Amino acid sequence: MQDCIFCKIIAGDIPSKPILETDDIIVLEDIAPKAPIHYLIIPKKHIPDIRSFEQTEFKLAGNMLLVAQALSKQKGDIPFRLLANNGSEAGQRVFHLHFHFLAGKDLPTSF
Ligand code: AMP
Ligand code: ZN
Repeated sequence: MQDCIFCKIIAGDIPSKPILETDDIIVLEDIAPKAPIHYLIIPKKHIPDIRSFEQTEFKLAGNMLLVAQALSKQKGDIPFRLLANNGSEAGQRVFHLHFHFLAGKDLPTSF
């Protein structure tokens, strides 16, 4: 998708150092971390947000959760928060689906 920063990263047009990569997902470190550990779990396919997920994409949806589990496992099963903003009114700024994986000491409590 043109003009999508995550698609450009996935295509290799913008260099990046993924934390983890599978056939259908990449994990990047957030450029402006809001927690000691702040990763972005991003499907390689351009899907704007959870609202636009197709029934047939259930495997990808599940894989995103398994990647979150793997990231936690990598660090000894650390606790983490998984968050997705869906739509600008909900705080989404990059309109390519992603889960924020937030972890580390002193994670601020929030809703
Ligand atoms: P959201 O507000 O949920 O759409 O979150 C977008 C996130 O993407 C923000 O936390 C940004 O800091 C992050 N971000 C934007 N551009 C990049 C980039 N080039 N590499 C890594 N993270 C990015
Ligand atoms: Zn995209």
